[in-house]
Formats: sequence, C-alpha cells, structure tokens
Amino acid sequence: MKAHDGMYIDGAWRPAAGHESIEVVNPADEQVIGSVPAGTPQDVDAAVRAARAALPAWAATAPADRAALIGALRDRLAARREEIAGTISAELGAPLGFAAAVHTDLPIAVAGSYAQLAASYAFEEKVGNSTVLQEPVGVVGAITPWNYPLHQIVAKVAPALAAGCTIVLKPAEDTPLTAQLFAEAVDEAGIPAGVFNLVTGLGPVAGQALAAHDGVDLVSFTGSTAVGKQIGATAGGAVKRVALELGGKSANVILPSADLAKAVNVGLGNVFANSGQTCSAWTRMLVDADRYDEAVEIATAAAAKYVPGDRLGPVVNAKQRDRVRGYIRRGIEEGARVVAGGPDAPEGFGNGYYIRPTVFADVTPDMTIAQEEIFGPVVAILKYQDEDDALRIANGTVYGLAGAVWAAEESEAVAFARRMDTGQVDINGGRFNPLAPFGGYKQSGVGRELGAHGLAEYLQTKSLQF
Ligand code: NAD
Repeated sequence: MKAHDGMYIDGAWRPAAGHESIEVVNPADEQVIGSVPAGTPQDVDAAVRAARAALPAWAATAPADRAALIGALRDRLAARREEIAGTISAELGAPLGFAAAVHTDLPIAVAGSYAQLAASYAFEEKVGNSTVLQEPVGVVGAITPWNYPLHQIVAKVAPALAAGCTIVLKPAEDTPLTAQLFAEAVDEAGIPAGVFNLVTGLGPVAGQALAAHDGVDLVSFTGSTAVGKQIGATAGGAVKRVALELGGKSANVILPSADLAKAVNVGLGNVFANSGQTCSAWTRMLVDADRYDEAVEIATAAAAKYVPGDRLGPVVNAKQRDRVRGYIRRGIEEGARVVAGGPDAPEGFGNGYYIRPTVFADVTPDMTIAQEEIFGPVVAILKYQDEDDALRIANGTVYGLAGAVWAAEESEAVAFARRMDTGQVDINGGRFNPLAPFGGYKQSGVGRELGAHGLAEYLQTKSLQF
C-alpha cells in the first residue's frame, strides 16, 4: 500500500521530527501493509502553527468560496473511490463491497452536504436591533478512531472547513493510510496551505499533545469514553471548546405489534455490519416475553448467514479480538446462553482477527454484556414484560447514543422513541440521513455531528447591537 513517510503540514508532505514509525497491519491476514511516521509533540506544534497562520485568510474567505473548495474535495474523494475503498478494506479488514458502499460513499455524501450547507447557511442574521454573527471557533484539533476511518474524518473536517476553521487531524493509529489519502484529496482540491494538516501518531503521544496544545481552540474527539473523559478534563481545564462522540450500548426495541422477523433480521445486520465496530450499533435487542423464544430462533438462524470472511470481516486488531472474546466468555460466566457463535476462533481462520458472529439469549439488564460496549459482532437479546419495563431496560445504561423502535404503526414507535434517553432513534428501520444530527445523550458524548447542527459546533456567536 502506498504510504507517505511524512506529515502533511502547511500544504506539503514534510519529514517527521522523530524517527519512530507505526506499522499498519491488514486484520484479515495479519500482514504488514505499510508504515507511517509516529508523530511527536514537535510535529503537532508545527501543524498547529501552520493552522493558526492560515486561520485569518480562511476565516475571511467568503462562504461561497469555501463551499466551492469543499465541493472540489468531495469530487476528489469520489474520483478516488476505488482506491479509498481498497485502502479501507486493507487496513480495517472490511469486506470490499461494504468498504465502497458504506465506508467511502457515505463520507462522500457528507462532504457534498457540507458543500451545500456552507453556501446556504445563515452566518449572519438580524435579531431585533442586533446583527448576530456566526464566526469560526478557530483552530480545531480533530482526533478520530479507526472504525469508520474516512467518515469520522469527513464528519469533522467538512463542517470545520465550512465554518471557516483550520484543522489539525490526528487519525487512529490502526487506519492512518486512509487519512493520508484524505490529505492527498485536500491537496488536489486546492484547499489553501495550512487550512488542513495531518499528523499521524499514537494517541497518548500525538493525540495528547494536540488535545493539550494552547494553540487549539476546539478539540473534536471520537473514540472511547475513557479517553473522551480525559480529553474533556484537559479541555475544560483550559476553557477550550470540546466535542465528544463516545461509546454506545443502543437498544433495538421490538414492540409487540412489530413485524418480528424483519426487526430481528435488520437488527442483527445492524450489529454485524462492520463486525460490530459501530458506536451506534443496536447491540441490545429487546423483545416482549410472549415472542421472546420466537425472536431467539429467528436470530439464531439469521446469524448463521454471517459467514466470517466474505460477509463478516475481522475486527481491527489482536487487542480488540481478545477484548471481544473476553466479553463473550464473561457473558457465559454470568449465565447468558450462547445460541450462535461463541468465544472460539471460527474454523479455517488460522490468520486474521476473526470472531464468530455471536448471539446471546437469556441476558438480563445487569449483566456485563448488557451494560458495556463490546465493539464486536455480539448481540444480546433481553426480555421485557411491558412497555414501561422495555423503557427502563432501554434507558438503563450509562450510554445514550442511538437506538431503534419497531411497531405496526409509526406513531406507536415514535411515542416510545420520545421517551428514550438517546440522541438518535431509527423508526421501523430508518434510513441514513447525512443532514440529521448525530451524537449522544449521557456518557455517549457532548455535541452533535452532521448537518447544520454539526456545523454549529465549529461556530461561535457574536452580536452587534444597533
Ligand atoms: P481510543 O479512544 O483509544 O482511540 C480513539 C482515538 O483517540 C485514536 O486516534 C487514538 O489514537 C486517540 N487517543 C488515544 N488515547 C489518547 C489520549 N490519551 N489523548 C488523545 N488522544 C488519544 O479508542 P480505541 O482504543 O481505538 O478503541 C477502544 C474502544 O473505543 C472501542 O472498543 C470502542 O468501545 C470505543 N470506540 C468508540 C468509537 C465511536 O465511534 N464512538 C470509535 C472507536 C472506538
């Protein structure tokens, strides 16, 4: 795989300050496919200085001109679709079709949505005798995870560009090649030097240096709740803006009137897509007592279709594989019943970080597998007695990122969704909407991404009175 041996800073690929590097491994066969430099605080500092220097001119660029450049970036990403999908497939392990249709096309759509929003957004409005101005927050430090490597980058960089902010990106160490391709697309689009900068490196070194840097005005982080708490504390101490997209343990609530087979099948697919490595995955399936056994049967049969390899990719690295298997063992120890999958390696996979698609029945709300984010292809099916019980279970974790409700009538599902403590709910399956705000209640995060709400994160407000 093509890899740059440097950092993209101030419009050019520049040698890293240190000599350490990070090897990139294909999770499907454990082969090293490239290496990138491990950034140091000096690299971060150089990138933040470049972003700071580029800020005044970019902030003063007319929104329509910023919109045109975001549109050009979208077009460059689209032009390199196959290469991006191939890279994501290689460094994340996602099956190629999914890497193209979801991992690549979705962020292209998001970039397109910000090209339009930047052109149409009301950066200035009259409120009585005042004019209210929406101005860029300044230099953004963006720290992204590996699970949707391009989407997480675009969901931060596109709105930041639209707002008139400049950016330093520290992508996940497992998927830096996608980030390098993104930097190439930024360069090809003609976005001015210093507006976007890339520093690859380890979280506790480069990520930590970026989050703590005095020259960063806003830290936008997506990743684990544990690291998010640290970043929130660091940013709070410096009275710096912070946006956090963290973990989830979302509930798939199947009400008694719902089409059970559809809700179970779509629900399982939602978790097994991306091998369970989706923060918004509906990892807890809630079924009424009368139809519980039937739901377990349907789920057991459906899980057999997710054959590791073609349909179900590996998880990202050995640490995650061991972590997920540890959770499966824990579920068994705590008394849940494995009806599909289990902790052993799937047959025929001596290499690669594969996990058997696993379904647990007889899960109670207090079990570890019903409370903690597993981030693997594992579904827990829980039983509820009535709607209030379902709501208690659905709302009974520290998380509140997403969820689903199924019912015969949309209005019935919507009434239930209104009572859920969560940031996004799909009604009878839902459909991805790049303009809908995405983000968490409770410990799932602070702030929103996507659409106008995502753009607002990168703006600060000034009012002029007349
Ligand atoms: P992580 O939080 O460790 O890493 C996310 C990003 O933060 C990476 O770029 C990493 O380099 C960086 N980082 C790590 N430590 C840092 C620090 N001290 N200061 C600044 N930046 C730092 O997440 P992970 O180890 O990649 O995944 C672990 C768990 O996180 C997963 O099992 C899952 O539960 C959760 N996760 C959630 C999401 C999400 O979208 N909400 C995405 C990925 C992972």
